[in-house]
Amino acid sequence: MEVEGKVALVTGAAQGIGKAIIRELLENGASVSLIDIAVEKGEEYKTLLDEEFGEGKAIFIVCDVTNQDQLTDAFQQTVDHFGKLNIVVNNAGINNEKNWEKTINVNLNGMIRGTYLALKHMRKDEGGEGGLIVNMSSLAAHTCTSGLFSRSHFIQRNLAPAPPPLIATQSGSRACTKLSQPNQQDRERERAAHVPGLMPAAHQPVYTATKSGIIGFTRAIAAASEVGQYGVRINTIAPGFVNTALLQSIEHEENMGEYYKYEANIKEMMNHYGILEPLIVAKGVIELAENDTLNGAVMKITVSAGIHYEEYGPQYQAKIC
Ligand code: NAD
Repeated sequence: MEVEGKVALVTGAAQGIGKAIIRELLENGASVSLIDIAVEKGEEYKTLLDEEFGEGKAIFIVCDVTNQDQLTDAFQQTVDHFGKLNIVVNNAGINNEKNWEKTINVNLNGMIRGTYLALKHMRKDEGGEGGLIVNMSSLAAHTCTSGLFSRSHFIQRNLAPAPPPLIATQSGSRACTKLSQPNQQDRERERAAHVPGLMPAAHQPVYTATKSGIIGFTRAIAAASEVGQYGVRINTIAPGFVNTALLQSIEHEENMGEYYKYEANIKEMMNHYGILEPLIVAKGVIELAENDTLNGAVMKITVSAGIHYEEYGPQYQAKIC
């Protein structure tokens, strides 16, 4: 699908990854609907986008993805305003282990709500034009593939002090600030050591549950779309650490609850694996739009390997009857 001329709706669009996705979509010629609970940030960003891309290319709708009525209205307003809907990115997410029910409600329920609303507007078998849905997962997710990860591997990567950085040097005084980009030789060393894959995060069990759920739901509904000929491709993106405000949530007891004590471990992991910039995730969305063969794909993004895909053996394919 060419992004040029399409209409996209992105949740969690006022900052971080969603903000970068919005800009990338606009730069590729789409019109965009920004959905976010953060009123001030959303309005400010919309004003900036009007100045940069011209009025009429972006609208901002205040909406809480946990509220079915608000989200239903936000989709309808988008279609009423632009006359169609082609791309939906369910990106809104939080990291809160203390208020874990809220985390499930935003990350998982919000994504399911957004997917069903997107299908309602886009399904070809129900009169729509078809389209693309992208659901934002994370590398902090469990998934069945080849069973390559042993329990000791899991513990080593989550709880033991991380080995010294292989691919990046830290700049600045904070542990989770910018890391330099790896060169080709560094990349090869890291690949040889191991590229981080999908893996439950010991200090974020509920976050991991939501992000695993997103992968499971997306792969299942993608298979349903194929069987039912919805004409809608549904894929997920699982990035490693990304340089956004969400990373700072690990510094607060009110976010992490009893896992707050693992702050230093998580920061060591950030140091070891590196931190992505939001732009590469945004570019991942464009790749998923442009590659019409992808449905049910799990795009992984890491500092060491860039954009690549989870490979599922035949026994792990979604069952299509
Ligand atoms: P962020 O905190 O910078 O941005 C999240 C956005 O979602 C904010 O604008 C916030 O206002 C909005 N939001 C939160 N709750 C909402 C709700 N109920 N309704 C509507 N909007 C809501 O975080 P981010 O890093 O940009 O995260 C975006 C997505 O990427 C999340 O799903 C997150 O889990 C995922 N992710 C982040 C990282 C990372 O390291 N930053 C890594 C992998 C995946």
